[in-house]
Amino acid sequence: MKVIQKLQVGSRVGGHFVFATESVEVGQVVCYLRGEIAGEPSRFSIQVGMHTHLVPDIDVPDSDGHYVCPWIYTNHSCAPNTRVLGRELVAIKPISTGDEVTFDYETSEWDMAEPFQCLCGSPDCRKEIRGYKHLTDSTRRLLGPDVCAYLIEEVAPAEAGSTQ
Ligand SMILES: [Zn+2]
Repeated sequence: MKVIQKLQVGSRVGGHFVFATESVEVGQVVCYLRGEIAGEPSRFSIQVGMHTHLVPDIDVPDSDGHYVCPWIYTNHSCAPNTRVLGRELVAIKPISTGDEVTFDYETSEWDMAEPFQCLCGSPDCRKEIRGYKHLTDSTRRLLGPDVCAYLIEEVAPAEAGSTQ
C-alpha cells in the first residue's frame, strides 16, 4: 500500500507549518497520519479515538529532507481546509499546490493538553481553543459534519446510536 503524503513542512516567523505539495480535491486524502498510539494527549499528539492519541514515531526529516510525520506541524484554523477522518487528513476544501494545510483541532481533540489563543483571522474564529469538551451546543452544531465520530458519541451516545 502506498502511504499518501502530500505535505511538506515549512517554517516562518512564529513556527512551522505544512503546505500541500500537489493540488488536492475535496474528499481526497492529504496525508496518512503515521505514528504510535498513546493513552494521553500531549503537545504534539493528535486524537484519533476517545482514549487514543497518535504521537509521531519519527519527528526528524529523512535524508531527502522529507518529514516522515509532517502532520505534527499542521496548524489549527477555525476555517480549515482538511479534517481528521480515521487515520487520515482529508480535504474539505479544494487545496492548491503550496497552500497551507490546516485542520480544526476542536473537531478531533476532546480536552487539549495545551489550550491556546487562536490568531487564525477567520471571521468565525473562536479565539480560545481548548477542545470539543468545552464548546457550546450551538458551536458543536456549526462544526457538525467535520467532527470526529467519537466526540459526537461522547456527548450524545443515544443520538449517535439512533442514526445508524
Ligand atoms: Zn481561529
